[in-house]
Amino acid sequence: IKDTETILRIALQKSGRLHDDSMDLMNRSGIKFNTGAGRLVAQSTGFPVEALFLRDDDIPQTVYDGVADIGIVGENEYAEKGYELEIVKHLNFGKCRLSLAIPKSEHYTGVGWFDGKKVATSYPRILKKFFEEKKIQAEIHEIAGSVEIAPGIGLADAIFDIVSSGSTLVANSLKEVGVVMYSQAVVVANKNLEPEKREILDQMLFRFNSVMASAT
Ligand code: ATP
Ligand code: ZN
Repeated sequence: IKDTETILRIALQKSGRLHDDSMDLMNRSGIKFNTGAGRLVAQSTGFPVEALFLRDDDIPQTVYDGVADIGIVGENEYAEKGYELEIVKHLNFGKCRLSLAIPKSEHYTGVGWFDGKKVATSYPRILKKFFEEKKIQAEIHEIAGSVEIAPGIGLADAIFDIVSSGSTLVANSLKEVGVVMYSQAVVVANKNLEPEKREILDQMLFRFNSVMASAT
């Protein structure tokens, strides 16, 4: 028995759309946390892992900085933040797409429609890259939430946002005209994990694989 035990620290969403599925995966992998109400850090019983509960927006940087070793986050959030991490596993939950949508009444002529338009989004970095690739000159207007109401109140001509069922678009008289990226939850890891931590990660991924293979 070593006196200094290596612990792998994993950043998980504190609450929100990825929280329950993330916790469920950990639980079913036999990694249970002593979570108390509102606690930010939790030790695991029976496995050398501890959890750090954060907003999903903060997870990529926390892993990049090495404050956490790995994290579970949406590919969309990972791409938007732009920190270079290693994607070690796709988790098959938290599925959504990032799409462009315009008012239902508009006649869509292809991506050129966006030239000279103002587009509201919470994902400016991903959108900027897409428009650059397509040689579209559009104005990107960053807003934090309720992006889908922007065209209706005259704040923008179109939106770029997360779509899952599409019902939010319909409720706001918008139509989806293009998918820019598909996303799901992924395990991201710091690129410079020490070997002891990498070994714990491998054991954890082995358990994830068994759980996911038996779930279907
Ligand atoms: P936080 O408080 O952690 O910042 P949030 O409000 O930014 O949470 P959530 O709405 O909980 O984020 O979504 C977290 C992630 O879940 C998204 O970034 C995306 O990867 C995924 N997701 C899957 N389906 C949807 C959906 N229908 N709407 C929003 N996000 C979804
Ligand atoms: Zn967030």
